[in-house]
Amino acid sequence: MKTLIQNGTLVTASDTFQADLLMADGKIALLGRGLPADGAQVFDARGKFVLPGGIDVHTHLDLPFGGTKASDDFYSGHKAAAFGGTTCHLDFAMQSKGETLRQTLDNWHKKSDAKAVLDYGFHVGITDLTPAVLAEIPTLAAEGVTSIKLFLAYKNVLQVDDTTFFKSLLQAGEAGMLTMVHAENGDAIQILVDKAVAEGRVAPEWHALTRPAWAEAEATMRAVALAGMAGAPLYVVHVTNGMAVDQIAYGRERGLNVMGETCVQYFFFSLDNLRQPDGAKWVCSPPMRTAADNAALWDAIRGNQLQVISTDHCPFLYDGTKPIMYEGRPFSLPGKELGRSSFAKIPNGVPGIEDRMLILWSHGVNQGRLSLNRLVEVCCTNPAKIFGLYPQKGTLAVGSDADVVIWDPAATRTYGVAASHQRTDYNLYEGWELRGLPEKVFLRGNLLVDGDTWNGEPGGGQWLRRGAHAPIV
Ligand SMILES: [Zn+2]
Repeated sequence: MKTLIQNGTLVTASDTFQADLLMADGKIALLGRGLPADGAQVFDARGKFVLPGGIDVHTHLDLPFGGTKASDDFYSGHKAAAFGGTTCHLDFAMQSKGETLRQTLDNWHKKSDAKAVLDYGFHVGITDLTPAVLAEIPTLAAEGVTSIKLFLAYKNVLQVDDTTFFKSLLQAGEAGMLTMVHAENGDAIQILVDKAVAEGRVAPEWHALTRPAWAEAEATMRAVALAGMAGAPLYVVHVTNGMAVDQIAYGRERGLNVMGETCVQYFFFSLDNLRQPDGAKWVCSPPMRTAADNAALWDAIRGNQLQVISTDHCPFLYDGTKPIMYEGRPFSLPGKELGRSSFAKIPNGVPGIEDRMLILWSHGVNQGRLSLNRLVEVCCTNPAKIFGLYPQKGTLAVGSDADVVIWDPAATRTYGVAASHQRTDYNLYEGWELRGLPEKVFLRGNLLVDGDTWNGEPGGGQWLRRGAHAPIV
């Protein structure tokens, strides 16, 4: 099957140029001016941009958490992602206590393989590092799972101590794997949470007030320093504030192989949102910070102190007692109402897998906050490079997978829960005006999204075997 996109403006991380793009057998076969149709299905992209499909390297689909689970699974999450121009993602396969990492991967394959529409891979989240699990880490690389994640927060649940973190860094580094870290000081946070709850300070804003920016800055510096001591690469997930950015920059300026991401929501929201009557909608960890931090994150993306924008997509219903309709059927699941009596019981997480590139286009690129090339770099190309998928994914090049988005810069929409496909009952960007939307989304040459039409099929997605020794960007 061949598809020819004519007359589009192609955008990569480095260049913007006029060309036709021919897809054949799931790959980008040719780029050039005036390519002959030669039996291909033809789409005219005059006046439109042609981008590589987005890659979201931080998602939690079907994740058990906080007495319920994330409301998007590997079908609904993939559908939503595709409508937002994202064609590939990496999810966290989370080890349960006592499990081997093999069992963890098998569990996540069971959740995903039959439902997947997009191409996807796994990081493994390690929560129980026995000697046997430590020895198992290098076997993941042979399997194509080349990144692990550890948590310095969530005391008594996911948190690991420095011994565990440092041993993992050493082991993963020697195997050519990348260690990812959730960097907040979980010990200090737990004391602040217990104190706030004991004092009756239980409104959603206390979620943020008990997880101060210093908790993130301290854990970020500690993780950076430990990575330096281990001589191992490090990727800090969901950086929310200027002080944490500074710690990553400090390491990079001294030649350490450390990188960082932020998530789309951290550019736009603050503690003020948690103070609204529906503040629970914004509860995620780390929390929303300040307007000054929003600005610091834009600077960090422009200045390459941070290299990726992801989502940490982990949606919950705002009111799980009221079913919503999903693809014509009622859907319900306990959600944020679990935390009505205390912020400490609100499931942590927000939707975003669909929102990311839509919001970054309209409220980033259109506002002059980042260039279109940088958008492609931090949402497509760098994620592919850092996580061992480049150049199969993440760019428009001959031989790459034909993961391609035709983006109409003139299309407009008032965004919100009714206009989005994430399986939840709210959207953080309710009522925001968008100008510039994906018009057609291809995965390996297959037209998944065609305007408002969804052509995706469960099981059509492919699990991705990723490469080790990926570059530091
Ligand atoms: Zn996360």
